[in-house]
This record gives sequence, structure tokens and C-alpha cells, in this order.
Amino acid sequence: MNPQEPAALAKTVRLLMELRRGGIGDHRVLGAIEKTPREMFVPAAFEDQAYENIALPIGNGQTVSQPYVVALMTESLELGDRDKVLEIGTGSGYQAAILSRLARRVFTVERHRELLREAERRFAALRLGNIVCRFGDGAKGWAEQAPFDRIVVTAAAPEIPAVLVSQLAPGGILIVPVGAEYRDQRLLRLCRRGDGENTVEDLGWVRFVPLVPGLPRLEAGVGAPGESED
Ligand code: SAH
Repeated sequence: MNPQEPAALAKTVRLLMELRRGGIGDHRVLGAIEKTPREMFVPAAFEDQAYENIALPIGNGQTVSQPYVVALMTESLELGDRDKVLEIGTGSGYQAAILSRLARRVFTVERHRELLREAERRFAALRLGNIVCRFGDGAKGWAEQAPFDRIVVTAAAPEIPAVLVSQLAPGGILIVPVGAEYRDQRLLRLCRRGDGENTVEDLGWVRFVPLVPGLPRLEAGVGAPGESED
């Protein structure tokens, strides 16, 4: 289905209304969602559900988040168009695509090579030239590119990852789902203040796949567990 077709447009409008009703008020975030065809980010079998406000499977046991959660995370990042953003967990690339429309540059890390390849193909098709992808363990962040104005983790961590906080610029914002159990995760927002004191806010319940340290066995190769191949 072409996103310009009336049926797709109607579904997009319905989704945007649902997000507004859910409390998403930032018109820039809603505009980025409107411009980004979610159907391109899901397997063909789920295309007809692409504009439903639900999470969908994307392969490798992973999911693309519910549009409401993507919108909430994006809005809570309070992005400026000069911001350098790090995303952990590229997955389908949908969240990165939304971020790329609102920030200067998006750096995104994924530990499943096939998912990353697919995401890169989508970024090229949509001509999103300000997204930089890396295959590797995002639990370590991206030290060479730090500091970041904003960091968003799209997989659940057992606690706020200290290494990511250390890669955040003063005044920066980190959004991360935290919780050991799938049914017991809260979305947290940490603001790094210039004086070294950080504030943490709770944005509510969420459900994410876990942040898994290291690389899948086949990818890591013998003798190099947990190391990226960069
Ligand atoms: N932002 C994605 C959501 C993907 S789900 C989207 O818009 O589609 C979470 C993703 O995090 C999965 O693809 C998973 O493979 C990835 N992930 C989990 N642990 C990771 C790690 N340590 N490093 C990099 N990616 C990780």
C-alpha cells in the first residue's frame, strides 16, 4: 500500500488522532509520524496492521514498538534540530527514522546484523541521510561519538545504564525503559545537569524486549564474545 493512497492516509489520520487523544501534543512529533510510512518497517504479513496502535513482530524475536510509545519517547526527548542523538536498539529502524526528522544526526546501534541491514535499506529508500548505523553491543554506548545531546534506549535495561549516562552531554536527556521483568518496566527520563546532579522522572509503564549485552553467538565469533566487529 502506498502511503499517499487514500486508504493509507485515512489510517494515518486515525492513528494521529489516537496519539493526540493519548496526550501527544507536540505537532513536530505528530508531523514526523505522519511523514514516516510505518508499513515499510514491518514484515509484509503485518502491513495491514501497520497503522494500528500496536507493537508488531519484526523478526529475530524482536518487535517494533507501539506508535504511542514511539511518540511518547520522542516527545519526552524534547529534541532540537541541532541535537546529536544516540539510539540503542535500531530494530526495524522506525524510531530512528522518526528521530532523524527532528534532530541533526542520529547514531543507532543494533546487535542483530540482519535487522540492521533491513533498517539501513529502509533509511536509504526514504532518503534519510542523517542516520549513522553501527552493528555492535549498544549496552556500551558509542564512546567514539560521545557526548550525545539525547540518548534513547529502546530495549529494557535492569537499571539506568551508567555508561550511557557518562556519554550524555551536560543538559542532556536519556530515556530508558527499566525493569527486570517484562511485566514490570517503567519508562524513565534522566536529565543530566551541568552540576553533576541528575534528575530522574518516571514516565509510566511500558513493555520492551530486554537489552541483551554482547552479540548473538554466531555474530560474536569464536574467541570474541561480546565484541563488536567494527
Ligand atoms: N527501536 C526499534 C525497537 C526495536 S526492539 C524500532 O523502532 O523498531 C529492541 C531492539 O534492541 C532489538 O532489535 C534488539 O535486537 C536490540 N537490542 C537489544 N539489546 C541490544 C544491545 N545490547 N545492543 C544493541 N541492540 C540491542
